[in-house]
Amino acid sequence: MLAVLSGGTGTPKLLQGLSRLLEPKELSIVVNTGEDFGMSGIYISPDIDTVVYTLAGIVNEETWYGIRGDTFFCHEMLKRLGEEELLMIGDRDRAIKIHRALLFNQGKTLSEATKLLCRKLGIEANVMPMSDDRVTTYINTEAGVMTFHEFWVVRGAADKVLDVAFKGAEGAEPAPGVIEALEAADAILIGPSNPVTSIGPILSIKEIRATLSRHRGKVLAVSPIIGDRAVSGPAGALMQGLGYEVSSVGVAQLYRDFVGTLVLDNTDNHFAPAVEELNIKAVFANILMPDHINRVALARTILELAKFK
Ligand code: GDP
Repeated sequence: MLAVLSGGTGTPKLLQGLSRLLEPKELSIVVNTGEDFGMSGIYISPDIDTVVYTLAGIVNEETWYGIRGDTFFCHEMLKRLGEEELLMIGDRDRAIKIHRALLFNQGKTLSEATKLLCRKLGIEANVMPMSDDRVTTYINTEAGVMTFHEFWVVRGAADKVLDVAFKGAEGAEPAPGVIEALEAADAILIGPSNPVTSIGPILSIKEIRATLSRHRGKVLAVSPIIGDRAVSGPAGALMQGLGYEVSSVGVAQLYRDFVGTLVLDNTDNHFAPAVEELNIKAVFANILMPDHINRVALARTILELAKFK
């Protein structure tokens, strides 16, 4: 079994490849919930929803957000009625979120609701939130403390980052099944997601971080950085703000306590000595995944490294 830690853009691309090569029951995915919030009566869990829609084959691959071909009548009407509607949630996407809100009303937890949703959408892989406890990411910037949404979507990562905090992480427990899946996995993959705001919240849960450290030898990561830039999103600004070099070496430094192997881009092979100095094995592949061919090819490399095939 392969356990994967995931955010909502880079890792889902790789999950498309992995799910072509693995039986669904061989895949467990632990998903970041640090950006979850409530809006217009629904609960939005951006990364869980993207992972679920990806595995269901309905994700909007232009944005890695919402459902392909969705319509926005409900969003427009709610705005007309004066609701803030910070995010554009499509009609079908909203139906799924309403369904989840109804499950919450029946007393279901986020992990139970995720399981039920997966079953209804025909997903057999094991998708789990990192925790059923609320952990929220806050970015401390020169312009003040803000949520990830405000930092990135509203203000375009324009503010200098000073620090990042995961409110609620202190007392948060891993969701049921997370530690068991990590322990039982033949390999644990930290996907190419933002190391600070997608993987960071998952690792802010002490027991998850400790489990990874204990199993360092079977933990692989794929870098989300090529050269000195993130493939997309604000990972660079966040890493820089925390004092890390924006490169795969910076990723290796962030992951040094719990990653045994780091997959870097072929064009970054000059970083091998700096990565290996951190006692992390450096492996090179084409880690840019613009299309399905690249996603399957990288997934195959990962499975070979993890000795699945
Ligand atoms: P978020 O929840 O939307 O922030 O999504 P993630 O954290 O899962 O994904 C964002 C990260 O994925 C960014 O840091 C990107 O650099 C990385 N990323 C996006 N596409 C690719 C890709 O094709 N290859 C690699 N290696 N990283 C990617």
